[in-house]
Amino acid sequence: MHSKLRDNLKRVQQRMGAACSRSHRSPASVRLVAVTKTAPMEMIRRLVELGVRDFGESRPQELIRRAAMLREWSGRQELSGEIPVTNVQPVWHMIGHVQRNKVKMLLPWVDVIQSVDSLRLAEELDQCAAKLERVAPIFLEVNASGEPGKQGVAVAATTHLAEQIATLRHLDLRGLMTMAPLTGDHSIIRQTFERTRELYEEIVSNRICGPRFRELSMGMSNDFELGIEAGATLVRIGSLLFEGIELAPQPAETD
Ligand SMILES: *Cc1c(COP(=O)(O)O)cnc(C)c1O
Repeated sequence: MHSKLRDNLKRVQQRMGAACSRSHRSPASVRLVAVTKTAPMEMIRRLVELGVRDFGESRPQELIRRAAMLREWSGRQELSGEIPVTNVQPVWHMIGHVQRNKVKMLLPWVDVIQSVDSLRLAEELDQCAAKLERVAPIFLEVNASGEPGKQGVAVAATTHLAEQIATLRHLDLRGLMTMAPLTGDHSIIRQTFERTRELYEEIVSNRICGPRFRELSMGMSNDFELGIEAGATLVRIGSLLFEGIELAPQPAETD
């Protein structure tokens, strides 16, 4: 299992590197977020040992559980006098829908919330961050394909929401996230990513956010190369990393 995971990771990194050179970008300009949804803890620890730093979860409860277990593991290593595998702290990205009543328990564990798509959610995050005396990094999730019923801010509403969020003192808007439609049609996927990038550039050129607004989270296992070619700084990859590895069934949990 361990060598398979290492090979999968290496393969993904090679493909990321190739997409970077095709689009004349530095490999350092794109980071991998390992999406761990169904992966057991042992694999997450192994990914940390392999140098992965960014992790993504789509459910608040799962993010908290995994972040807590990882923190406990690092703590135990230090106590037992072992040199921690990495003295770099993992970065946890929330990439799925967040209900407002989950914000309070989620915030102490999460580093970046990529899936903010309403002013109400942003205000709740801002208030909770204020109580914790911190500033929470967030992205806006954009429904750039305009699919009905899909998560994310409508394209036409995005700049205005960014302006409103820029006034919230305990939030730091760092970028945009999008999901392409599930399709094999590359031109549709490309269009979705290009539209998100245009929005990003509009927000930058209108100076709505500060210099830390510089992330574009675009691309998953099926389309990360297209994301990189369209300017992604983060790709969120799950199934490709765990491909061909037997996963023990995880106990179902409710949020
Ligand atoms: C599950 C998920 C991913 C990863 O998808 P894979 O196809 O497994 O790589 C990325 N982003 C979001 C928002 C997800 O929910």
